[in-house]
Amino acid sequence: MSAHLPAAPEDEVVELCRDLLRIDTSNFGDGSGPGERAAGEHVMALLNEVGLDPTYLETGERRANVVVRTPGTDPSRPALCIHGHLDVVPADADDWQLPPFGAEERDGCLWGRGAVDMKDMDAMMLAVLRHLARTGARPPRDIVWAFFADEEAGSENGSYQVVRGRPELFDGVTEAVSEVGGFCVTVSGPTGPRRAYLVQTAEKAIAWVHLRATGVAGHGSVPTTTNAVVRLAEAITRIDAHRWPRRYIPAVRGLLEGLSDLTGVPFENDDCEPLLERLPGVRGFIEGSIANTANATMLSAGYKHNVVPQTATAALDCRALPGELDNLLATLRELAGPDVEVRETFTAPSLEAPYETPLVDRMRDALAAEDPEAVVLPYCLSGGTDNKALAEIGVAGYGFAPLRLPPDLPFAPMFHGIDERVPLDSLRFGARVLHRFVMNS
Ligand SMILES: [Zn+2]
Repeated sequence: MSAHLPAAPEDEVVELCRDLLRIDTSNFGDGSGPGERAAGEHVMALLNEVGLDPTYLETGERRANVVVRTPGTDPSRPALCIHGHLDVVPADADDWQLPPFGAEERDGCLWGRGAVDMKDMDAMMLAVLRHLARTGARPPRDIVWAFFADEEAGSENGSYQVVRGRPELFDGVTEAVSEVGGFCVTVSGPTGPRRAYLVQTAEKAIAWVHLRATGVAGHGSVPTTTNAVVRLAEAITRIDAHRWPRRYIPAVRGLLEGLSDLTGVPFENDDCEPLLERLPGVRGFIEGSIANTANATMLSAGYKHNVVPQTATAALDCRALPGELDNLLATLRELAGPDVEVRETFTAPSLEAPYETPLVDRMRDALAAEDPEAVVLPYCLSGGTDNKALAEIGVAGYGFAPLRLPPDLPFAPMFHGIDERVPLDSLRFGARVLHRFVMNS
């Protein structure tokens, strides 16, 4: 008789990720995609195989969510939720070097849509969860493991429905961990390269805004000062030219001060320009977290070449810092002027979770055990995650999907970009770190 040795999380995380990447869960945002059902059933089978009995929920046609709770050893502790989304943004295979749903291996990486957003973390969660189930190991806290649908289209057919429809699944949960954080950036310091792992502790608010300019319809040959197209164009130009004031929320200040310590580049008098110049790779996401933004993304007007239309419309994607959403909308109305109506079509609140907390200490411990030189810093995400849905039931959300990355890998552009890939070593590292984190939290 041969003893069956349970695999450590790192031993099966690559295979788990590969299998998930090969299931196309493209989310087009209009319900036309394949949905998450195949991935949800796959996750169910992986969990049933190790004796777990998860809850499977569909929140729309083929929109699959899987939730399972593992009991902790200390019932006096509140529960922790660890969650990932199963859907991915679509991929145009023509733009990619390797097939986006092939999960092929090249240059030490697994290539595929979702490799970093976020089937990598889904695979780490599955690896750790299966390991706990096989070995009977129990972390101190109850853990609610959730795999959600529809994150890439605003979560309406995913986490929001699960949280609102089945809140009892999250009984006792006070904190949650998911994307987008836990990865490292390498910066050059006075004594050589340093790795900073960024833990996401804040998210900006989202406001999708519709602009509607009204004018006077008329013949295209007659001079006019009441053209809706021109009014809309002027409004967009004013909005785009507006310089939103910079404000440093605690997460961003912590990040900038930490980067300043690591690089020796000063961050003084609230001027982060010297740091941004030194760190071109992180400029985009830092700039996105120090001010509100309002980007025009769609335009529509007119129906015939010789007709001045009565109305013209545009869409703006706006992101507000914590506490700034009302101010952003008021400013937009002022900039748009009296002839342009500003209407919110979708808003989601900002989030801010405490950084000086035992949970973040456990993240730091887990990283330090696997990368002794790791420095941990907070940051604010300019996008949104399923943590917004969990915030509705009072859960503080963090981004911590741990990955040690080679310094030359262009990580941030791979989110929704082409040639998305994750190093195999990073996946194994992440599984080890997540395992340590879960057992000690
Ligand atoms: Zn994501």
